[in-house]
Amino acid sequence: MCPFFPSLPQTPMPRMLRVRDGLADGLGRAITYLRVSVTEQCNLACVYCKPRTGCLRTDEAPAMSRNEVVQLVRVFVRLGIRKVRLTGGEPLLRRDLETIIAGISPEVEGRVHLTTNGIHLARRARALRDAGLAGVNVSLDAADRTTFKRLTQRDGLGKVLAGLEAARAAGLKAKLNTVVLRGWNDDQIIPLVRLAQREGFQIRFIEFMPYRENGWDKAQFMPAADILQTIQEGLGADLEEEPTIGLEEGPARLFRIPGSAGRVGVISTLSADFCDRCNRVRLTSRGELKACLFGHQAVDLLEPLRNHASHEDLAQLIRQTLIEKLDCHPMRRGDTPSLTQGMWQVGG
Ligand code: SAM
Repeated sequence: MCPFFPSLPQTPMPRMLRVRDGLADGLGRAITYLRVSVTEQCNLACVYCKPRTGCLRTDEAPAMSRNEVVQLVRVFVRLGIRKVRLTGGEPLLRRDLETIIAGISPEVEGRVHLTTNGIHLARRARALRDAGLAGVNVSLDAADRTTFKRLTQRDGLGKVLAGLEAARAAGLKAKLNTVVLRGWNDDQIIPLVRLAQREGFQIRFIEFMPYRENGWDKAQFMPAADILQTIQEGLGADLEEEPTIGLEEGPARLFRIPGSAGRVGVISTLSADFCDRCNRVRLTSRGELKACLFGHQAVDLLEPLRNHASHEDLAQLIRQTLIEKLDCHPMRRGDTPSLTQGMWQVGG
């Protein structure tokens, strides 16, 4: 029995394959959003992401070529995917990222987004926009230089802030993402909210998720409810919740700060998951389809692609895999929290 998450009754659900005009999983959830990890490499070593016992390789070529990324994305899009997010690892470590974006953007009518740590954003923002990027989520876990360095093992706050400024100047929609670890950066919540308010960015606070060797423990886990309470107490104001938006706009619950145009969000992946509304699947940096972030199943699409599988063969493999997409996190059934691959491979 997992000590942290309540067990759910296991209700048999109807198995379906497709919804009209799109792709659906075995429970009939429409799948419209694809996240692609384009590289395992990263230039930060965030304490909650990097395996404590290992080292991330910085000299390895990406497993998927740019053509392979674009070809696989195309198969998903023809099946019904409407929005694509490129992530990693650190996607801006790929020099051919703009080419990948240019290949994907017309397929999804411009709905290509990027998640980045922002270190190389300042010099790439314009080129990314010109390639067809619509928006960027920048991970920022601290508003002060010392905490940033302690969390990421790099003195990079200035570069990230410059990247945000460049994204704005280039006309890219930019949002901030912050993973909160109690005892590490919970004291940064209010400074980050103020920074976001001042600069006019939406900021979303993300619950610390467990996976392979990332050092997750209950003492560091701060549920969304505590994050919200910290914001309300720190600002001395009651937050006003906004009506829920579609999951395609993200899983965050958004709140308006009274007397300000700013909005803050929380993403409660663990304390109040959104599995029943899940619309997403992932393509790992190694070209495997992962139907669920926390699921153990990963189905290789890259090898069949290299062996000249037809579009229909790949489509069939994807549909088959989605039949088994989980109804909820394994942890909610009492299993130990786990991810067989790191977030840098699966794509956070
Ligand atoms: N390098 C890019 C970046 O930093 O945004 C993209 C990859 S990173 C793995 C993608 C997202 O996953 C980031 O927003 C990061 O904060 C989040 N993430 C990584 N590990 C996490 C964890 N243990 N719990 C919650 N979010 C996590």
